[in-house]
Amino acid sequence: MTTGTKPKIVVVGAGIAGSLAVSGLAERDDIELICLERAAESGQLDAGTGLNIGPNAIKALVAIMPERARTLIDNSLAWKQWTVELTDGTPLMHLDLASVADNAGIRIRWAELYALLRRPIARHIRFGTELTSIGHGDEGLFVDVQDASGVAGERISGIDLIIAADGRYSVARQTQWGQEPPNFLGVCLYRLLVPAGAGCPIDDYGQWFNGSNRLLAFRVPGDFVYIAGSFPIPADSAIPETAKQGPALRGLYTPQNGSLTAQTKFLVDAVETYADHIHWARLQDGTVQFAGPPGVLLLGDAAHPMVPTLGQGATQSVEDACVLVDEVRRALDSGEPLNLVPARVEARRRERVEFVVSLSRAATDTMLEGADPVAGTFKKTQPAFLRQLERLYRDVPEPLA
Ligand SMILES: Cc1cc2nc3c(=O)[nH]c(=O)nc-3n(C[C@H](O)[C@H](O)[C@H](O)COP(=O)(O)OP(=O)(O)OC[C@H]3O[C@@H](n4cnc5c(N)ncnc54)[C@H](O)[C@@H]3O)c2cc1C
Repeated sequence: MTTGTKPKIVVVGAGIAGSLAVSGLAERDDIELICLERAAESGQLDAGTGLNIGPNAIKALVAIMPERARTLIDNSLAWKQWTVELTDGTPLMHLDLASVADNAGIRIRWAELYALLRRPIARHIRFGTELTSIGHGDEGLFVDVQDASGVAGERISGIDLIIAADGRYSVARQTQWGQEPPNFLGVCLYRLLVPAGAGCPIDDYGQWFNGSNRLLAFRVPGDFVYIAGSFPIPADSAIPETAKQGPALRGLYTPQNGSLTAQTKFLVDAVETYADHIHWARLQDGTVQFAGPPGVLLLGDAAHPMVPTLGQGATQSVEDACVLVDEVRRALDSGEPLNLVPARVEARRRERVEFVVSLSRAATDTMLEGADPVAGTFKKTQPAFLRQLERLYRDVPEPLA
């Protein structure tokens, strides 16, 4: 920082982690705050589909950014139950989240979530601006950016803290740690959002298995149902085109006796009808990296790519942002340099995030080729797993500032 100037913070990515980091610091008049976002301002509004955010994210937000928590709670549906059945209706698990968490989670559409997170910080976001590299020169830390056309380049230098929240394919991470091969688990996971319509039998969070093929669904605001279907594929191969067709998908979830319930009939019909609108992905995770060179910090998926089995990717991005905001506020209030922040965030986050990455991976057991969902789900009703869930949902970061 040059004497007499305000410390300069650059946040890369206005996704979940980045937007919340900016939100928590936006009211400070003792910093210069810039957020770089690759997407255009009107882009990403139909991004993704829907998601559930865990009770732990809401608990952390209430403690550190209560007004953000209020906005999210007011504009979402509560996530209170987690049920698991076979697609023929055989019940396997019914978990009341209140038994393992201090508060409910939320269910929301991506488009709504992005809008809620970005609206209050729009003046700080440079949309259509893409990070291309990070470095250290005569004028301290810098980022190179280009506009959406890829033509106009610019260097922003003299930065005190770079918060790289640029998602799973983070350029910032690649420039510091190199390209890491993704670790595929051998499961295809696809997502879609469908109209609920009159008499829709889907409400709170449920999962339905036919062998290791699984449907997951819940209602989100706006009278939509979010559906995430999965089935095993070889870990080293792409998703076969033949598996993406409506009748093939129907076959995956139809039990041998052909008998679907009202809920699973709704879901299977929807998957078949809207097969052309599906977003396809493969389950993958990677290593945890937070603090880079002095003044550089990864946050969210950039720091910890994880499988979405427990709905913890965005949830942990929220926790990350809470800790980051807490640490930056602390450093500013005590006049300490901001380049101390990355190591402090890492010290508060690494152990917890490694626990969550590993629990998410372990919880994927019932979705793997040859898995027995009955035995696997039974294990998830037992004290050992419920204790892990309690740790997940209750042991959240608390403010130190
Ligand atoms: C199938 C599936 C289902 C999921 N379901 C859930 C769920 O139910 N609950 C849950 O908690 N999580 C879920 N997740 C995980 C969740 O999507 C991510 O963990 C979460 O979005 C990560 O937030 P983030 O802020 O780190 O990154 P993102 O939300 O990806 O945001 C990154 C931002 O950075 C921008 N950006 C990227 N590169 C650049 C660049 N070079 N320059 C400038 N800007 C850039 C992007 O445009 C984006 O806006 C799911 C993931 C998948 C794949």
